[in-house]
Amino acid sequence: MTIDSIDTVTVLGAGSMGHGITEVVALAGYDVTMRDIEEDIVQDGYEDIEWSLDKLDEKGLIDQEPEEVLDRISTTVDLEDAVTGADMVIEAAPEQMDLKKDIFGDLDEMADEDALLASNTSSLSITEIASATDRPDKVVGLHFFNPPVQMDLVEVIYGDETTDATAEQAYEFIESIDKTPIYVRKDVQGFVVNTVLGPFSGEAAWMVSEGLAEIKEADASMTQRGYPMGPFELSDMTGIDIGYHVRKEAGMPIPPIVQEKVDADELGQKTGKGYYDYEDGDGADYEPSDASDDFDWLRIESVIVNRAAELIENDVATAEAIDTGLRLGAGFPEGPCRRADKTGLDTIVEKLEELDEEYGDEHGEGRYEPSQYLLDLVEEGHTGRDAGKGFFEYESGDGPGDYHTINYELHDDGLLEIELDRPAQLNALSPDLMDAIVDLLDSVDDEEVRAVTFEGAGDRAFCAGADVTAFSDSDPAKDSEPTEVFTAVAEYPRPTLAKIDGFCLGGGLELALACDLRIATEDSSFGFPEIDLGLLPGGGGTQRTIRNLSDARAKELVFRGEHISAERAQDWGLINRAVSGEEYEETVEEFVDDLVNGPPIALRKAKRVMNEGADQDLDAGLEMESQAFGLLLTTDDMMEGVAAFSADREPEFEGE
Ligand code: NAD
Repeated sequence: MTIDSIDTVTVLGAGSMGHGITEVVALAGYDVTMRDIEEDIVQDGYEDIEWSLDKLDEKGLIDQEPEEVLDRISTTVDLEDAVTGADMVIEAAPEQMDLKKDIFGDLDEMADEDALLASNTSSLSITEIASATDRPDKVVGLHFFNPPVQMDLVEVIYGDETTDATAEQAYEFIESIDKTPIYVRKDVQGFVVNTVLGPFSGEAAWMVSEGLAEIKEADASMTQRGYPMGPFELSDMTGIDIGYHVRKEAGMPIPPIVQEKVDADELGQKTGKGYYDYEDGDGADYEPSDASDDFDWLRIESVIVNRAAELIENDVATAEAIDTGLRLGAGFPEGPCRRADKTGLDTIVEKLEELDEEYGDEHGEGRYEPSQYLLDLVEEGHTGRDAGKGFFEYESGDGPGDYHTINYELHDDGLLEIELDRPAQLNALSPDLMDAIVDLLDSVDDEEVRAVTFEGAGDRAFCAGADVTAFSDSDPAKDSEPTEVFTAVAEYPRPTLAKIDGFCLGGGLELALACDLRIATEDSSFGFPEIDLGLLPGGGGTQRTIRNLSDARAKELVFRGEHISAERAQDWGLINRAVSGEEYEETVEEFVDDLVNGPPIALRKAKRVMNEGADQDLDAGLEMESQAFGLLLTTDDMMEGVAAFSADREPEFEGE
């Protein structure tokens, strides 16, 4: 039996993870009890939650009062009080097996019969934790990432006895708190994310140990491949000893450079020194110029892909789950499977075979031996994107691909709806998402499109800006170019409309301004917070506002970095309409109706002449207009428009 629904949750532990999980669960509307072993620890955890909620509120990132959220949280040091009546218990106590088994033994006695029992362990066996109970079928791993409020991913891990019903209920619960779950279907060491992430630092450490690369070269070259930080900077951040112990326990050989650092007790940021010097030096001070074309990134990525393929082969996770996990849990720019499909799985296998021949088992048993899953794919000709199939299937031809940061639908009437789909990040523009929009607009057949709408997934934001992690690897030369996505949207040859319900900030407002029309709900808010980061709105924000608004209003928006309401945005001419929630869809529909049924050629010409003419002097603009007008006189659409007008009927434009 599983419980009908989860209403009340108990979190055991008020430390780094416990208080964060409590906050996330309460934010989602659940009643939560947070339990730790001493009153002052519980109190500290509670204060951390208060502080964090105030910050979220200050930044306008939550739509409820901090007090309302706090009202849902109670605290206690009494375990029985804490778990009696709870539908779900999430344990976030220190990472020690004996302690966890004690706790689960107690839970077995005290928790309600049908309660779900979850552990937030990051490395211990769920099966072994569950063995402390007489109900291992109800025990599941829920691996939140640190800090839980910001990190969107949760791994849902099966122990050997966990039933599908338990795992599914845990999965649905994670979705209900606005996080993204992935299934880890077997209780493997490292689960999915850490297993696949391991070689990112591990392989780089072998390469440097063998004199094949320098530390800064490796870090700079990998950030240039889009990773949020280099492998050595990452090891310094997580602690060099962590990877060391994982390898040691698994009986794997240790790269000499890792051994040296551990012997010298230089374990990374926490000891002030690791691969970089954080006390007397400038920390991870590698520069884009440290990158080199000779750096063998393929070696690192091939071993990563091999780990992913092994997980798929052993039914631990799907390629989709692995990709989601690595993107959300490790900040990878795209999933390793999708990236491998672009690189070509035959290239990956070749690289692995080359490494296997050179090193054999020297760096770990079977480390480079290509997984059977990869070999089978290659043998069957499924070598990746170019072949139409690899880890994933691709549509044939040059049509739009399969995107995971946007959803789209091209309706029969020619309306192309695009939804930015990163609700947990308030639909922030990541490089991936921007590429997806460009790719979609580029590959969809515009003869079939009559109008495009953009909207944000979830109920909080159209788009709250650019993903700040995208700045960490910014290349000044590249970032000083106008960002392609805004140009692609602004110049798209069909009318575009931004449907705004919630935050429309920074890059989100720039995207909306790149659209031709903007309709918003009254509760939406607008602004350019870039100035507070020492930046300016760099996706056309300064230029499109000064062209759309009065000089003073545009500068107020850009200089002050404040949010303005939808009502003010409408008064200022930043948006076409601010309407109530009830009127919103209807208003959008009326606009869209006119756009998709309007004369396609005339709309395209009008858009072009208005956009391009606005940058010319009046005479040049009028010249463009009259040329376009002359051309429209020769179209069938014009004949149809006139005929329909005379016959007092609705015209049916064909775009001819
Ligand atoms: P922490 O040391 O910050 O917090 C652990 C808390 O548990 C402490 O406040 C401690 O007093 C309390 N505690 C001890 N015994 C308890 C008991 N019997 N009942 C209730 N509380 C008890 O540790 P943390 O970083 O929050 O880690 C907790 C768990 O989360 C570990 O299993 C860890 O592996 C996992 N985890 C940690 C991270 C991370 O980055 N910190 C990330 C993911 C998962």
